[in-house]
This record gives sequence, C-alpha cells and structure tokens, in this order.
Amino acid sequence: MGLMMSGACDCGYETTCSVGSGRVDVRDRCDAPAACDACRRVVTVDLGDAEMVCPDCDGPVTVYGRVTADPHRNHVPAVGDWTLHDGRAYVLPTGRHHCPHCGETRLRFLFIGLWD
Ligand SMILES: [Zn+2]
Ligand SMILES: [Zn+2]
Repeated sequence: MGLMMSGACDCGYETTCSVGSGRVDVRDRCDAPAACDACRRVVTVDLGDAEMVCPDCDGPVTVYGRVTADPHRNHVPAVGDWTLHDGRAYVLPTGRHHCPHCGETRLRFLFIGLWD
C-alpha cells in the first residue's frame, strides 16, 4: 500500500500526491512528490527512475523529502515515510516546503490515507 498526501499552501494552491507504491508494482517503484517550477505544480515522480523529470513537461523537478540509509531515519519528524526495496527509506519531513505555484516556502503536506 502507498500513502496518500495532500499539500496545501497559503497562496491557495492545493494538491494531492502519493508516496510509495501499490500492490502491483512493489518492486522498484516508489512514488514521491516533486515540484515542477515550469508547470507551477506538484507532480509525482518515481524514485526508482535514474532521471527524474516532470511527467508533463519533461523538465527538471525538485523532489520533496529525501532518501536515507539511516534505519532511524535521522529522527526527522515525518509526514510520511516509505521503506524502499533496498532497505533505505524515503522520508517526507513535516514543516514548510517550496511551493511551485507561488515560489514561497510555505507548502505543507498532510497524511490523508492509504491506497493500494
Ligand atoms: Zn513540468
Ligand atoms: Zn504557494
């Protein structure tokens, strides 16, 4: 099962995104949210891809959160985390993130549920 997140910024921008992978593609795939400044929106990329680009414009994206090999996940307070097939973990920290819509660092993610 993957995790559903919602993102909301003070500018009014809202989005939903997924983290992790569904039942059918548990192997190498891990969805993660990323910011595309060209499209001015949050998109979903696959951390298993060698090159992560925007699915809409093929441009560069900035992935939210990070992948860590630390089993304690650096004790970062996280909105959500996901264990990758190689044992590392993807962590989406709490707090304010870059908003691709207004350019300010005030986008917040919330955990809203599970999907599969
Ligand atoms: Zn784009
Ligand atoms: Zn914004």
